[in-house]
Amino acid sequence: MENVKDLIIVGGGPAGLTAAIYGIRAGLSLVLAEKFSPGGQVVNSYEIENYPGFAEPVEGWELMSRMEEQARRLGTEIINGDIISVDKSGDIFSVKMDGAVIESRSVIVAAGASHRKLGVPGEKEFMGRGVSYCATCDGAFYKDRITVVIGGGDVALEEAHFLTRFSSRVYLVHRRENFRGADILQKRVLLSDKIVPVYNSVVESVNGNEAVRSVSVKNLVTGKKEIINTDGVFVFIGYDPNTAFLDAELLNGSKEVEVDINMRTKVEGLFAAGDIRSGSKRQIVMACADGATAAMSAYDYLTELSCR
Ligand code: NAP
Repeated sequence: MENVKDLIIVGGGPAGLTAAIYGIRAGLSLVLAEKFSPGGQVVNSYEIENYPGFAEPVEGWELMSRMEEQARRLGTEIINGDIISVDKSGDIFSVKMDGAVIESRSVIVAAGASHRKLGVPGEKEFMGRGVSYCATCDGAFYKDRITVVIGGGDVALEEAHFLTRFSSRVYLVHRRENFRGADILQKRVLLSDKIVPVYNSVVESVNGNEAVRSVSVKNLVTGKKEIINTDGVFVFIGYDPNTAFLDAELLNGSKEVEVDINMRTKVEGLFAAGDIRSGSKRQIVMACADGATAAMSAYDYLTELSCR
């Protein structure tokens, strides 16, 4: 049983890294498995201004580098790998990854969520050739060019504002009459002379030849259709939880992992934290809190297991 860890954490975003920090400090032997490099979605945010402790906005990659450094300094082993499945036999979990199987007595899934796709003609075809899901990564390619942002939540508003650093004009296409994002972000967007809100409208297709040249937009109230010429289309219409590797019985109708307030799932010893879990508010500080809660619950579970 020497190779059996106390805990495997799946995912290296704020929830996973915080779970590691709490788990290690509680004396658990653990490993954190991450598909890419640690940091999660936050690394794609240019600036974070609502994470406590930073009087001035902190860049997403910097905040996450600090969390990773803290977890590593405390002794967290971070391995790379895409998770294929999590199974339990007796009291032991087997986490199957591409290339390895690791065993543990408990697991925290903190695999986050992925950008939702629009699903319109041209989106897939022009991905990487004008269609993007990350303004921080791709915004600079659109210097003095026209871009289109789709969505009306916090992310769409933040990213549209970020794109005004480069783009000459940013059309912000939203399917309703009002944005959903925070007041402070709405004000920022509406004050910008580079952002043109296009309300009550949906993008029906992304058009181009070698690269994106325009989008076809339909007004849902008037039925009127128009073409907006653009070089870059940025899609920010929410996220879907990364739960494909989990049993359907653990998930709710939105494919999120169902948890109680202690981040416990239906399976003893299996916990979930962050954007992957039911009821997540998708805030960094809350993902961190989830990670801490899940690690403390795992500790309690392991203590109880050792007394059986
Ligand atoms: P969101 O809040 O779920 O908003 C998604 C937006 O996309 C909504 O306006 C929605 O329209 C629209 N939408 C969804 N599906 C669509 C479709 N098929 N076609 C066209 N439009 C579509 O998602 P988000 O902005 O990505 O934010 C995700 C979460 O992260 C939120 O909980 C947010 O609060 C949080 N977050 C917070 C901050 C911050 O606090 N600074 C920053 C980033 C993210 P409807 O309005 O019609 O539903």
